[in-house]
Amino acid sequence: MGIQEEIEPIVRHHAFSDYRWLDPAAILVAEWVRMKCQFGCPHFGSAAACPPNTPSVDGCRRFFGEYQHALIFHFQNAEAETKARHAWSARTNRSLVTLERDVFLAGYPKAFALFTDACHLCEECVPRKGECREPALARPSATGMAIDVFGTARSLRYPIEVLTGPASPANYFAFLMVD
Ligand code: SF4
Repeated sequence: MGIQEEIEPIVRHHAFSDYRWLDPAAILVAEWVRMKCQFGCPHFGSAAACPPNTPSVDGCRRFFGEYQHALIFHFQNAEAETKARHAWSARTNRSLVTLERDVFLAGYPKAFALFTDACHLCEECVPRKGECREPALARPSATGMAIDVFGTARSLRYPIEVLTGPASPANYFAFLMVD
């Protein structure tokens, strides 16, 4: 049985329905993404799974270069209120890390999830990785790993637009690296 036939039943078991396989070489990694984290994002320096607690941009490139297979997951979230959005992210991210574990147990030791947003598993995050409250579960977001989510999603013909206000329906993306 091939990797897709083995993993897709696990993905569907976790109720992920909108996903595609992609070649990890098609994941776009860019310095501008890290600049957006460093300047303008409130999570920078205040969240244990966000930059500067993630690898350098070159380190992220090297990480993706070690994989042969990846899945991208698409979600739509129309929650306008920040707290509700974060609660949705926490639920989705918990499901992603459970999926990662089940794929790992199916015989894929490199399985690694990239969250759809900042971790948000706890109501209050901490700035230092060593103080993370759920170190077994926390994972970086795709943008925290310097993925150009706009470019990568558009190359796969997924919809994604700049959000012009909190009420804008948002397209979110997560990844699962698999080998
Ligand atoms: S598990 Fe909690 S403390 Fe750790 S990165 Fe996620 S939100 Fe922050």
